Amino acid sequence: MGKVTGFLEIDRQDRRYAPASDRIRHFKEFVIPLSEEATKDQAARCMNCGIPYCHNGCPVNNQIPDWNDLVYHGGWEEASRNLHSTNNFPEFTGRVCPAPCEASCTLNLTDTPVTIKSIECAIVDRAWEEGWLVPEVASHQTGKRIAIVGSGPAGLAAAQQLARAGHEVHVYEKNGKAGGLLRYGIPDFKMEKPLIDRRLGQMEAEGVVFHYNVEVGKQMALKELVDSHDAVILAGGSEKPRDLAVPGRDLKGVHFAMDFLPQQNRRVSHEPVNANEPIVAQGKHVVVIGGGDTGSDCIGTSVRQGALSVTQIEIMPQPPEKENKALTWPNWPLKMRTSSSQEEGAERDFAVNTVSFTGEDGHVKELNCVRVDESFKPIAGTEFSLKADLVLLAMGFVAPVTEAVVNELGVKLDPRGNVAADMVAYKTSAEKVFACGDMRRGQSLVVWAIREGRQTAHSVDKFLMGSTTLPR
Ligand SMILES: Cc1cc2nc3c(=O)[nH]c(=O)nc-3n(C[C@H](O)[C@H](O)[C@H](O)COP(=O)(O)OP(=O)(O)OC[C@H]3O[C@@H](n4cnc5c(N)ncnc54)[C@H](O)[C@@H]3O)c2cc1C
Ligand code: SF4
Repeated sequence: MGKVTGFLEIDRQDRRYAPASDRIRHFKEFVIPLSEEATKDQAARCMNCGIPYCHNGCPVNNQIPDWNDLVYHGGWEEASRNLHSTNNFPEFTGRVCPAPCEASCTLNLTDTPVTIKSIECAIVDRAWEEGWLVPEVASHQTGKRIAIVGSGPAGLAAAQQLARAGHEVHVYEKNGKAGGLLRYGIPDFKMEKPLIDRRLGQMEAEGVVFHYNVEVGKQMALKELVDSHDAVILAGGSEKPRDLAVPGRDLKGVHFAMDFLPQQNRRVSHEPVNANEPIVAQGKHVVVIGGGDTGSDCIGTSVRQGALSVTQIEIMPQPPEKENKALTWPNWPLKMRTSSSQEEGAERDFAVNTVSFTGEDGHVKELNCVRVDESFKPIAGTEFSLKADLVLLAMGFVAPVTEAVVNELGVKLDPRGNVAADMVAYKTSAEKVFACGDMRRGQSLVVWAIREGRQTAHSVDKFLMGSTTLPR
């Protein structure tokens, strides 16, 4: 374990952010890493619990106490090997994971969990700096061809695992670059995109072939892929956004978050914006509808673009400041959280529903709202309006886009409209077709996508070879 008395002697200390007044001037990451000494101290706080709840809290089951101990004793390279045995892309999760592991850490019972996510990030960043992460080219080729539709974290994790098992892996991606929501959804200030390019370089050297600007189902029939490969994995994400069918929805200036965010990511990466209408918050009163991660990303992006004001409304009531540990631990608790973007200057309001948008000359000018009770029923006399030149709908995603899958192969969907496949074999109703990530489980997290990609690779390898040594 770390230091036996570490948790008694050393206070929790986490990475800090650059001041908001500085960081809103650019789109770069702004988290300030801890020094090597401070990271070792934080790792020393791990108690190596008899039952390490953090293992289960982490969707990829990272062996957290093991690498905490290695970091404490200076065994960084071994820590990196251990970390990569369960997680293909810790530099992504070390930046954007909400860290359910920390919620389940025993020290979270006193609100001082081990800074697991920061230690994870320190291990992998150091591993890249030291040159420990090199392509792991398979020692033999199986002669089996696998097609993967979608290059988000689920598709990438599956591709890397299968290439390392000696299969010929082809990834088909409708965008010009790989990464899925890591590249075009999550803003650069949370995760800079050269991190993805560096991993792609490793994967290409391991033999993964990427085919860009190919929308399967449009430019290429899905059936063609099925006919020309030994297995096909569907990892197309969950891209149908939840809409708000209220009067005035068709006014100019009301957009889905995912029409807005990718434009800025493309600008930062000097990619063509590919949009009929540039959507920019500069000089505008912005209202973000939806209180989750996507909403936060809209706030941070709007603030950096120079919005006059940003207001975020949420239909759910304001959660409690502090959870009741006896009821929630080791699970992820519902409690009031403030993201770095929300800190940067957004007004937040809860238990508010949008009734309509009103506009002038076809452009939105106001959002008309009402407060709601716990059953979301409007409370009479609480109507109010918000000034709005730009409204961003960030209310989540209802389902994947599955027309090609259903039309061409008759793949069965589950009652929520996701591609139906269980969490053991990840097999769909179509012969030799598998599904993983948001396309199978619905809108989720990067770390869950990585887990599903890895587990699908295990299942596909077993399906093709009769047995597998790939971990689940
Ligand atoms: C704005 C935003 C911010 C988020 N922030 C976080 C965060 O901070 N932390 C976190 O853990 N999670 C976050 N999430 C959720 C997370 O990004 C997703 O859960 C995760 O990316 C899902 O991975 P995936 O591989 O299943 O799908 P995706 O990342 O959606 O990738 C799917 C890929 O498939 C491609 N594709 C789809 N259809 C086709 C087709 N027919 N042909 C070819 N290619 C196709 C898409 O272009 C895309 O590249 C966020 C989501 C959004 C929208
Ligand atoms: S991947 Fe997420 S849950 Fe797992 S150890 Fe890292 S931060 Fe924690």
